[in-house]
Amino acid sequence: MPIEFSRRTFLVGGTLVPAVSLFGSVDDKAAAPWYRKTFLWGQTNINEADPPHYDLDFWRSYWKKTGVEGIIVNAGGIVAYYPSANPLHHRARFLGDRDLFGDVLKAARADGLVVLARMDCNRAHEDFYQAHPDWFAQTVNGQTVRAADLYVTCIQSPYYDEYIPELLREIAGRYHPEGFADNSWSGLERDTICHCPYCRKKFQAASGQDLPSRPDWDDPVYRDWIQWNYTRRTEVWDLYNRVAREAGGKDCLWIGMLADNPAYEARRFRDLKAICSRSQMVLLDHQGRNASEGFENNTDAGKRLHGLLGWEKLMPESMAMYTRNPSFRKAANAPAEAKLWMLEGVAGGIQTWWHHVGAVQEDRRQFDLAAELTRWAGANRKFLTNRQPVASIGLVWSQANADFYGRDQAEVLTTLPYRGFVRALVGARLPYIPVHADHIEREAPQLSLLILPWLGAMSDAQVESVRKFAQKGGSLLVSGETGMCDEWGKARTNWPLAEMLGVDTSDGPKREAGKRTGANHSYLRLLPDMESGGRHEVLNGFEKTNILAFGGSLVAVKARGDASVVATYIPDFPVYPPETSWMREPRTDRPCMVARRLPQGGRALYLAADVDRAYASWGLPDHAQFLANGIRWAAGRTLPLRVAGPGVLDCNLYAQDSALILHIVNLTISIAWPGAARDVVQVGPLTVEVRRQAGSSLSKCRSLVTSKPLVVSVDGDWAKVELPSLAYHDVLVFE
Ligand SMILES: [Zn+2]
Repeated sequence: MPIEFSRRTFLVGGTLVPAVSLFGSVDDKAAAPWYRKTFLWGQTNINEADPPHYDLDFWRSYWKKTGVEGIIVNAGGIVAYYPSANPLHHRARFLGDRDLFGDVLKAARADGLVVLARMDCNRAHEDFYQAHPDWFAQTVNGQTVRAADLYVTCIQSPYYDEYIPELLREIAGRYHPEGFADNSWSGLERDTICHCPYCRKKFQAASGQDLPSRPDWDDPVYRDWIQWNYTRRTEVWDLYNRVAREAGGKDCLWIGMLADNPAYEARRFRDLKAICSRSQMVLLDHQGRNASEGFENNTDAGKRLHGLLGWEKLMPESMAMYTRNPSFRKAANAPAEAKLWMLEGVAGGIQTWWHHVGAVQEDRRQFDLAAELTRWAGANRKFLTNRQPVASIGLVWSQANADFYGRDQAEVLTTLPYRGFVRALVGARLPYIPVHADHIEREAPQLSLLILPWLGAMSDAQVESVRKFAQKGGSLLVSGETGMCDEWGKARTNWPLAEMLGVDTSDGPKREAGKRTGANHSYLRLLPDMESGGRHEVLNGFEKTNILAFGGSLVAVKARGDASVVATYIPDFPVYPPETSWMREPRTDRPCMVARRLPQGGRALYLAADVDRAYASWGLPDHAQFLANGIRWAAGRTLPLRVAGPGVLDCNLYAQDSALILHIVNLTISIAWPGAARDVVQVGPLTVEVRRQAGSSLSKCRSLVTSKPLVVSVDGDWAKVELPSLAYHDVLVFE
């Protein structure tokens, strides 16, 4: 087992690598199906006004300039861009007699490109509604659900079972695209409970119960309804793939768009694990960032979903060449913004897919954003696919946690703590992999530390896999209410992780969920006082303070005798007026962080104070250091990478055969306002050290960005290079 990140450990992890590389690199397998070798993607998302103005010559030259190998072309669904035989298939308003889909497809074929027919199957026009009123979603009061002037279809109705398959067959039979991409395929979101005749009948048949009239997470019928909705989306995924294969051949795939954020997908009933496990390729639609989701979020997305899909498969992501956050579909994205988002995707194993909305653009700057990067990625594809992440830290997540623990506050309860740890890990340049809670045992051999951020809802099997990990010498960093509820979000009477973590709850686990209303004026007290010395190493760097700002919430626990309390809680006191701003209760015995050495050799750190959530919310540097210190202490001497030098750098390490590949993306940006990165500040020199794998010398290193070799000095287990400077990014290949 792993535990020490030794040569032997690496050998265990290393055995995975040859198995993966049997697939070969993307460019040397001519016989491979399109979905294993189409690396560079693009999409002009056309609108109803576009057909008369679509300039095929321009777009062909742009395909060439950006080196794309596959494109997504609007075909049908809400709007048809070809002359469909189905009278209900609404023809684009300005299509006339033109077969725009057919014309673009023909040109793409002539240029050697793969074509996915884009569908958008979730709503329809008035005439369609009049023809089949019962196919549309209805509220509990019998009102038809509308979106602007369109009518929203119900995913349980024949619109999905009969009508859309008919269109897929028509398009596959007539045009033979390689596959289909569907935009809003997953129907109504969770906040409306459809009461159409199909929902009533099918839910009754599936569960023996009437539909719930309103959301109630404590009601088993509502939870059944949630599960029933998930099952239906996965069923639609399977149905459309079956239809696509029947009509388009064995390699014809139907792929619905997915996002990475489990809380976002939970609201849409898209089961990331179930879908990735049955798919040859997924398409990501995940184009923006906000205050809690920096550029690093895109790397995390790639790593997280590759963990479900497999690292030998491709995962193109739609990347906006227009302004996001907020969306301005026609205005060019800031160059640094577009480039960093793409580079962070590439660092997570994502393939680029430029995305323009509309065939006609007046802001021509958007056509200068992708080409340099896509051509670079295309030339270096061998190193950007078919590799395994190298990390000794696993960050655990599950979508069920977003549903059944997060419930209606999943972003706050589950997403923020996860994002807080991601930012702390990236800031400290600590390579990690996201690990699905069902895959802990699968990933355990390469890991020395599991971080479980507010994984409130855990099944017994998931708890057991954490226990096993610790019993084999692994370390744990656990925050908040992790494990306090079962997989349905029901509070457990006993907290199964308590003893391992060296803590106890006086009268059973206490749920803190829902009590957060923003920052309060609380603090952490670091123990012992600075004058006394002898502090725990998780407090390194805080030698000149007894307190740290906190502002979050606390799970009430007591420390057991064999654990050390590293920090305690100072309750909220007034901020204003200043005369009143004094600590009413400067010392309490309420633990915020508890450390323990496990009998099997690992370490356990329990974070009762939600510093992870606080860091994602406010970005205080002290919180970053507090989290990073905790991670470093718990991870022990097992880290595979050391990078020294200035800057905010996202470092991701991969193994490919006997080589190591290191991505460094420079996130030292001049304006940190989300959506507005203006420029990247060049940093350097950097000292980069990678731990050598058993059987690999790593005596050579070259940059895939400058194409220059770097001088390697080998010192024991470490291979070291100096990187004189770093602009946007570099990819170093050690062999
Ligand atoms: Zn319905």
